[in-house]
Order: sequence, then structure tokens, then C-alpha cells
Amino acid sequence: SLLLTQFLDRAVHLYGRKPAIIDELGKRYTYEEVNERVNSLSFGLASLGVEKGDRVAYLAPNTLEMYEGFYGVFQVEGIMVSLNTRLKPMDYVYILNHSESKVLFVDHDLLGLIRPVRDQLETVEKIVVHGLAENGHGLIAYDRWLSSFPSTDFPRADLHEDDVSTLLYTSGTTGNPKGVMLTHRNNYLHALSTMHHLRVNDRDVLLHILPMFHVNGWGSPFYYTANGATQVMQKAADPKVILEKVEKYGVTVMHMAPTVLQSIMDQYKNVQPQIDQDVRIIVAGSAPPKAFIKQLEEEIGWEFYQVYGMTETSPLSLASYISSENECASNDDYYELKVKTGLEMIGAQVRVVDEFGNDIAKNGKDIGEVIVKGPLVMKGYWKNEAATNETIINGWLHTGDMGTMDENRRIQVVDRKKDIIISGGENISTIEVENVIYDHPAVKEVAVIAAPHKKWGETPHAIVVVREGHEVTGSEIIDFTRERLAHFKCPTMVTFMEELPKTASGKIMKVKLRELTSQR
Ligand code: ATP
Ligand code: MG
Repeated sequence: SLLLTQFLDRAVHLYGRKPAIIDELGKRYTYEEVNERVNSLSFGLASLGVEKGDRVAYLAPNTLEMYEGFYGVFQVEGIMVSLNTRLKPMDYVYILNHSESKVLFVDHDLLGLIRPVRDQLETVEKIVVHGLAENGHGLIAYDRWLSSFPSTDFPRADLHEDDVSTLLYTSGTTGNPKGVMLTHRNNYLHALSTMHHLRVNDRDVLLHILPMFHVNGWGSPFYYTANGATQVMQKAADPKVILEKVEKYGVTVMHMAPTVLQSIMDQYKNVQPQIDQDVRIIVAGSAPPKAFIKQLEEEIGWEFYQVYGMTETSPLSLASYISSENECASNDDYYELKVKTGLEMIGAQVRVVDEFGNDIAKNGKDIGEVIVKGPLVMKGYWKNEAATNETIINGWLHTGDMGTMDENRRIQVVDRKKDIIISGGENISTIEVENVIYDHPAVKEVAVIAAPHKKWGETPHAIVVVREGHEVTGSEIIDFTRERLAHFKCPTMVTFMEELPKTASGKIMKVKLRELTSQR
């Protein structure tokens, strides 16, 4: 069967003496050493009474301890619940109680998020703290605790590929988080598909920038481990530290949100680091503009990939790989393909359908909902059958994302169903308008949302964060878009903000923005 535990077993067998993890302090651990710690963790979990199907929660940034949690929990046949580190204490109460987590592992730096709500946790029996020196106040100090258990192989029982490996709560961009149940088979096939599309290999050095607790980062410990890559831990997306590490450790691959890539590029231009190795950048969440990708590939020499996915599809189902040389006759075609969200990955069947469930015309213009079927689709939402049945219909997962499909089956996600603006009966992709505004030199960040309009029903409203040292007015932004976009797509209102509200994965929360701007 397809079990995630096999990935670490394979790495120990093939790459046992290779550096597996480089922690925040620069300390190196081989795959054999990591495996020994994982074994101790499994014995430790068993001693706390964790059994098949029990939920074990983690609240931690990207650390060695977080990484070993994955394999430790799977070896005892538990289910990992990884918590977003940027939530509020009450959100943790909701998720921990909803998932009925039995044990909570928490990083010492984040303990303050749990302390005030500890009495409200209904099912958590033990709290183990990473980086705590001594037991006390009912908390278990991780390192001491870990070292009291054997590091020999933990006896495996009867894990099955249909067993749930994780409950991943969605990032909550559109409402309350839902617990997505993924199985070992889901994650395993996702790992195989991703390592193929991203050409993951044993010469790779991954810098873990995307938080591992979020689904986009959650898969990396599987496909990079299976191939014996070295994984460098990174707690925060600080562009200065990131570039230093890329230089120092010979990093070859990084996954990140588009906003983080922007800040790394800015920093790159400032410091002009000495980086000789080839670097691949994988961006999830939306594509930066074409000119930006061109600059990244031609001036800096880093290869750009775009991927599309969602927690419910393990997560990735589309990748912007370029399948055939003849498909792009010119340099311009090549970048045109790179901004497209992509082609279906192995393991995902993808269609774009109209409101009656019929495939839309493959003309790159008509817009429909993206739906996905196959072994990457989740088992369902935890304790929420109604939401599961609304989302998965006849085996097809309805993503809630709107897109087009061209004659080569390349899909372009244009917007979320809930974000798309309908003005005078025309669909407006907020992403398209945002990409144009991003080209303005004074714009650091922008989000476009719908504002009510007497005549047109809705109208685009741009919320802009200005780049440091620049100035720009609302009417300048509007004029800029009118030179570049059909007039009905141009914003009629511009609001300036210091920063935009974001989820932990760096995505702009438009629901929050709509609330904030309607209060003004
Ligand atoms: P919630 O479901 O709680 O509202 P969320 O959908 O933001 O949260 P995720 O599963 O982390 O949670 O994000 C998936 C969504 O991110 C997709 O449905 C899509 O809207 C967006 N997305 C991901 N990749 C891309 C991409 N390459 N281009 C455009 N949008 C993308
Ligand atoms: Mg979603």
C-alpha cells in the first residue's frame, strides 16, 4: 500500500548519511539521525496513549521538530492536525476541539497563543513544548522527553492507504476554516506527481519558506525526503536571510507565495548576491505578471514554475510546465504559457464547466468553474457531510475557482467564484485588473474587490499599498488602467492602505477587505 512512512524509510536506506535537515542554527542532521529522533518520537507518542486514528496537533513554524512530527505521528498511525501559526487563540480552541485533538505539540515561542485558552481545550490531554528546558506547569519539555525513549525502529502495525493522514483546516480566505481530510494515498500520489513535475532529485537543496503547516508546504517533507534532498529550515519569510541561505547552502529550490517572491527580487537587486547554482522557484496562489517572470528568468536566471491547487486536492492539480517545444514558437509565447495556471498534473482530471455542468468552449475566453476528479481529491470535510456533499458531486470536486481553457487544454484561473465582479452583465477578473495595476512603479501591493454601483450593479474598487518612497493618487491609478484595459474593467474607486490583510500563506483576504472598506 501507499504509506507516507515509506518516504523516510527510503531516504534512510538510500541516503542515510546525507544531510537531511539543516536547522535554524545551521546544525546538520543526516537522514539516519533524523530517523532515530522520529523513532523516539513514535515511542513517546505511544507512551502518551496515542493510537490509530487519534489526532495529534502541531503549532510550530518550520523547524526540525515540526518535520519529525510528520513521520512520528504516521508511525503510530495517528492523524496530524497542523495549525496555522497566525491565528487568534480562539481559533485554536475551535480547531483543537473540532478535531478532538489528544496531544498538542507547540513551539516555545508560540506558547503565548495557547496559554490564555488552555482551560477551554476539551480534548487535549498533554501539551509538549519544543524548545522548553524543563517540565513545569503541566507542560512537557520536548528534548528531554524525546531523549528518554529508544531510537530503534518503532514496530509498525496495520496502517492502510485509505487511512486519514491529516486534517488540514483551510486557510479561511472565504469563511470559517473546514477540516480537509486527506489520506495516505492522497498525499502519496500527490508526492509522486509533484516530484515528477518539479524534477525533484537528490542534488536538490530545498529552502522551506512556505510554512509546513499549510497544505502548500505540507507536501514538501514527503517529496523532498523521498528523493534524499537536503531541507533547510526557515522560520520566517525574511528576504535578507533567505538570500543569505541560498548563497550559503547552495539552495536549488524554493516554494513561495507571489508576494514573497516580489520582496526577494527587490532584495536581490539591492545586494547582488553570488549565486552560481541553478535555482527553481515554485509559486502557488496566483502568478506574477509576465514582465516580472521574464525578468526573473532572464536577469536573475532562476527558473519559474506556477502551480495551482487547493487543500481539497492535496493540494496541486495544475502546473505550468511547458510540455512541448513546438507549443511556443517565440519568446513571448513562452512567457504567455508561464503565466497560465497550467495543465493538469498526473493524478488529476480537470475540466472547466458552465453552470449546467457542460464543458466550456476551449477558446481561452469563455469562463467556467474548474472541477477536479481523481486520487488527489480529498476524502471529505471532517464532521461536515453537508459541505462535503456540496463540494464533491459525482466524484467531481467543485473548486469554487473560475477559469478559461485554451485549445491546448491549458487552464487559466481568472478568479474565485465569490470574488468575480459582474458589472453591467460583464464578468471582470479581479486578478486581471490587479496584474495591470501591479505594473505601476509606485504600487507595492493591490487587491481589487467589487463595490456596489447604482448603474452597473458592481464596479471594481482597487485597494493599493504604495511602495516606500513613492507617491501616487487614485486618479493616476485609474488613468493608468484606462490606457491598458477595457474601460468597463477599470476601477472607479481607489483606496490606499498601509498593508493588506493576509492569511498565513500570504494570501490577501478579500472577505476582510470588503468588511474593512464597507465600514469606511
Ligand atoms: P478557504 O477555502 O478557507 O476560503 P483557501 O481557498 O484560500 O481558503 P487554500 O486551499 O489554501 O485555502 O487555497 C486554495 C485557493 O488558492 C484556490 O482555490 C485558488 O482560489 C487559489 N489559488 C491557488 N493557486 C492559484 C494559482 N496558481 N492561481 C490562482 N489562484 C490560485
Ligand atoms: Mg478554498
